[in-house]
Amino acid sequence: MKHVTEGDLFKNVIKTLEGAGKAINCDKNVMARLRQPRRAITVSIPVRMDDGNVRVFTGHRVQYSSTLGPYKGGIRYHQHVDISEVAGLAALMTFKCSLLQLPLGGAKGGVEVDPTKLSRPELQSLTRRFTTEIAPFIGPQEDIPAPDMGTNGQTMAWMMDTYSQQKGFAVPGVVTGKPIEIGGSLGRVSSTGYGVIYTSEKALATMNKTLNQSSIAIQGFGNVGQYAGLLGYESGMRVVAVSDVNGGIFNGDGLNIPEVLEFMNAHKTLKGYPKAQAISNDELLALDVDVLAPCALNGVLTKENANNVKAKIIVEGANGPTTTEADEILNKKGVFMVPDILANGGGVIVSYFEWVQDISNYFWDEEQINKSMRKIIVSAFDRTWKLSQEAKIDMRTAAMAVAVKHIEKAMLLRGLYPR
Ligand code: NAD
Repeated sequence: MKHVTEGDLFKNVIKTLEGAGKAINCDKNVMARLRQPRRAITVSIPVRMDDGNVRVFTGHRVQYSSTLGPYKGGIRYHQHVDISEVAGLAALMTFKCSLLQLPLGGAKGGVEVDPTKLSRPELQSLTRRFTTEIAPFIGPQEDIPAPDMGTNGQTMAWMMDTYSQQKGFAVPGVVTGKPIEIGGSLGRVSSTGYGVIYTSEKALATMNKTLNQSSIAIQGFGNVGQYAGLLGYESGMRVVAVSDVNGGIFNGDGLNIPEVLEFMNAHKTLKGYPKAQAISNDELLALDVDVLAPCALNGVLTKENANNVKAKIIVEGANGPTTTEADEILNKKGVFMVPDILANGGGVIVSYFEWVQDISNYFWDEEQINKSMRKIIVSAFDRTWKLSQEAKIDMRTAAMAVAVKHIEKAMLLRGLYPR
């Protein structure tokens, strides 16, 4: 098994952290603590499959930091999940919550499984057993999971029910991203995609452009990509390309996103959509657009393809889509980067609202949620932009520096236990 700190994503996050720490002259003892997760848990998950045999899956939960509040972060089901990737994502969650000034720490979880190969009963058994294995470490005041790639509202409903069965009463605040009927929040499913567009608008404004004067290409047409596409379209952007795992579609005049969504729902793929031409994911990344929004996997912009990028702005809907080498190339090319911890912060902001609503048993309307989310993400953008201008550092380093400054203050105030 990989060591926690061995993976590329983890190393990339720590490299950004080092650069940010240097830029703001962060306390060296704080930096030493920020380089490691607080706790990494690996569990075996035995599941009786439909054919009667037992398969044992491996799951992880990495609790990176709880300096600012309970651990918070998604659960990913993917065949390539490993402990180090989970740790890298947990670190990103920590800095994301700090940048957004939410009273939450950072965590992430994952199970090494291809969820598309399991039946619904198998997935339910896997989720319930995984929840039981990590139950001693989670809870509304301890650690609050949420969906990520390969998991969804149904997964969260099973997790919430399993945890609640063991407590003997309903505990909706143990997870976020739940269906509305069991304590989910209005506006949660659209939040990350909407945040991508709110931050695109701010980045465009630095170039004196508005959404309705601009074009966007979106890689990934899942939860994040679809809502980014939809709000982009509704805001008058020319959404010229979208893609999924099988490839993309392109129309220089702009795609009709509600129509594309209808096609996608009917056919479960973008392939064959009639009013566009087929393009590959690599071609999508090289399109001449104002905004490129990678909203699928990490590590898609690499030293091999970064030079082909023609977009003026990259808004990272996905976590870690740009490798360190690609980042350097894009910086040199003068591409304006809205880094992941800022660009996809909409999701955790509304997760935070969901948790607040659950523990106070009082629910808000969608307008209030979207308005409050926008306020938080826009003000995080402003703090980042200001520091990047003042300290003459790129936006990724600036976002991390704003996050590190906030958590540094909290760590120094709380001190180190026992001394
Ligand atoms: P999702 O599973 O709903 O969608 C993923 C999309 O990516 C799908 O369209 C899939 O076909 C596509 N895809 C998969 N492999 C691909 C490949 N090799 N090339 C191109 N496309 C590929 O996932 P999601 O919830 O939209 O999350 C996407 C990214 O955003 C992840 O990095 C996730 O960590 C990040 N993120 C999600 C949220 C959220 O609220 N959902 C919040 C913050 C960050």
